[in-house]
Amino acid sequence: MTTVWVLGDQLTRRGPVSRALDGDADRVLMVESRAFAARHPYHGQKLALVFSAMRHFRDRLREDGVTVRYERADTFREGLDAFFDDHPEESLVAMRPAGGGADALRDLVQDAGGRVEFVANESFLCSPAAFREWDDGGQSHEDFYRWMRRRTGYLMDDGDPLGGEWNYDEQNRETPPDDYEFPDPARFPPDDTTERVLDEVRAEYDAWGAVEVFGWPVTRDDALDALDDFCEHRLADFGTYQDAVVAGEWALNHSLLSPALNLGLLHPAEVIERAIDEYDARADVPLHSLEGFVRQILGWREFMRQVYLREDGLADANQLDHSRDLPDFYWTGDTDMACLRESIAHVREHGYAHHIERLMLQSNFALTFGVDPAELTSWFHAAYVDAYHWVTTPNVVGMGVYGTDAFTTKPYAASANYINRMSDHCAGCPYDPDATTGEDACPFNALYWDFLAEHEDRLRHNYRMAGLYHHVDTKRGDELDAIRERADDVRALADAGDL
Ligand code: FAD
Ligand code: SF4
Repeated sequence: MTTVWVLGDQLTRRGPVSRALDGDADRVLMVESRAFAARHPYHGQKLALVFSAMRHFRDRLREDGVTVRYERADTFREGLDAFFDDHPEESLVAMRPAGGGADALRDLVQDAGGRVEFVANESFLCSPAAFREWDDGGQSHEDFYRWMRRRTGYLMDDGDPLGGEWNYDEQNRETPPDDYEFPDPARFPPDDTTERVLDEVRAEYDAWGAVEVFGWPVTRDDALDALDDFCEHRLADFGTYQDAVVAGEWALNHSLLSPALNLGLLHPAEVIERAIDEYDARADVPLHSLEGFVRQILGWREFMRQVYLREDGLADANQLDHSRDLPDFYWTGDTDMACLRESIAHVREHGYAHHIERLMLQSNFALTFGVDPAELTSWFHAAYVDAYHWVTTPNVVGMGVYGTDAFTTKPYAASANYINRMSDHCAGCPYDPDATTGEDACPFNALYWDFLAEHEDRLRHNYRMAGLYHHVDTKRGDELDAIRERADDVRALADAGDL
């Protein structure tokens, strides 16, 4: 007989846990490691989310008659030692970790005197083996997404993409009219278990961010309710305003499902199928919203994981040789830049900001400022409730700050022109989005042109960037010199905490 070892982000009854439920395994082992949680200044809600979800998972299994050994220990090693002291003959079976690293865990178990067998991770739609067989080492996300559509049959119509197109993104870039009201997302007030965990987090950890407003789903039932709520109230307009940034709105029509998906409380297949059912049942859910949503989960989420597993050294990739420190305001929120101030406030308050805030505000600024990609990754990893290495690292290093071109074809750098078009922040900002030099000029502008000038050798011949260098050329001379001087001033002001 064996014990099923459940890692903190594998809170699913699929895979080996089903053996414990069927009586084919003795028990389940879970280890809550304090040292692991104290390694970074994690957001308090992230710690509370993981611990509370683990304890709820334990309690539900016990209610269903499964014996669960739940170790609260300083380190994984101590938890494993305690377990094998009591069960020296037992061997463990566990799902492979989502981001790899099974060998390190195997060593830990062996050092504790035990054995572990790793089996397939059941929380994704594409296995590493299937990806390796298909991938030639340089496939794009779009290739992957189409392959996944064909393999799964999602949004396919007799071998062709539903509606005739693979992608409806041109309909997914609207900004909402002034009187548009975003429906409030479902929130889940803490129960006794979560309250106890929140008290522990306050007392025992040097955590960052607000813990007073916790509302994340911590059980499968809550996660399913969150999925229903999204499909019923926000899926229809999800795509249309997917790229928008709106002052005073932290969620827009985003699903907020990444924390539950990444913990294993929801499976990507059921999320996609629930959305497709909603589309089939209602005339007012447009295909472009459904396809936009499915692409995030079937395409980007799965692709990012496979890229993380494929690319060695991604965590340290830094092809632009950027080495600046992350400005303090990422932690304090203390900046006059209205767009960044609010997006960082969202992270402090919820451990969450939506995709465009992550990409076009927080990463874009760090990219053009010249922040070391690893330092930015550490910030995202600590600050976001849905952050795990397999998903945070490729998103930040590859997509966010172009630390590698292994799977992104261009840097997502933008000036205030883009931010002003997609958001309503600039109207309430002391900086001028139309100015590039001068004390009141929007900092994004000088940083943007400075970034293009600094990396001209690499980027000028990139076919997706070449057009921009026509504009750089028109500024060459005194104008560009003044812009680059302003970029230096912006960096100095940020370092001094005065931006
Ligand atoms: P929605 O907008 O509702 O999208 C639906 C789902 O699609 C998400 O729940 C998520 O599971 C998936 N998804 C969408 N885009 C991506 C993507 N690029 N990569 C992986 N999954 C995606 N996602 C994380 O889960 N954890 C992270 O730590 C994380 N860090 C990011 C850092 C940067 C710099 C960027 C640009 C993106 C990051 N993302 C991360 C991807 C994406 O921003 C989040 O998945 C999304 O914002 C989660 O919110 P949501 O559930 O409301 O998403
Ligand atoms: Fe952001 Fe610049 Fe607009 Fe201010 S002016 S909100 S800093 S883009």
